[in-house]
Amino acid sequence: MQFDLRQLGRHGGAQRDEHLDRTFEPSAFETPDEREDAYRVAAPVHLVMDIHKDRDTYRVTGRVETRLELECSRCLEPYDIPVDATLELRYVPAPAGNGPAQGNHGHGDEVEREVAEDDLTTAFYRNEELDLGELMHEQFVLALPMKPLCSDGCKGLCPECGTNLNKASCDCSPAWKDPRLAGLQTLLDRNKER
Ligand SMILES: [Zn+2]
Ligand SMILES: [Zn+2]
Repeated sequence: MQFDLRQLGRHGGAQRDEHLDRTFEPSAFETPDEREDAYRVAAPVHLVMDIHKDRDTYRVTGRVETRLELECSRCLEPYDIPVDATLELRYVPAPAGNGPAQGNHGHGDEVEREVAEDDLTTAFYRNEELDLGELMHEQFVLALPMKPLCSDGCKGLCPECGTNLNKASCDCSPAWKDPRLAGLQTLLDRNKER
């Protein structure tokens, strides 16, 4: 999912903009290795973007739409969320030589100063290519809720028997005990015994 930046201007030297409209199948986002994403792409991903070249900087604006499947943090069931994210990024060349072996002055400082000039997020490109997979992955991560819940009223799993309380009830103690009060409860029980 790389976009070759050398394609810009291929229709004539004056053209510095590129309009991109692509759809990616969910299978394109499956990672063969064991990278643990907190989401699974559940619908085709529609990416629309405009790339504007300004010397060695590329401004990218656009939109990415899809649905992501997450796992509810209470009942552990999968559920979907819609994603419709607006892109506004600036791509600058990746600093030469990755890793900490760089000099402590120069390029790094320059990049920081550029970020301060406006609110655009700065990303890096390498080998004259934009990594669209990485771009979309970052948008998906930004779209994830802090605490994924299939619904606000999700009843979760019974802490005793593991029954999904959205789907069934169980015979365990119906009173939900706040674990923070468990210590207090022990004290009360102990007093009763005396
Ligand atoms: Zn749930
Ligand atoms: Zn139970």
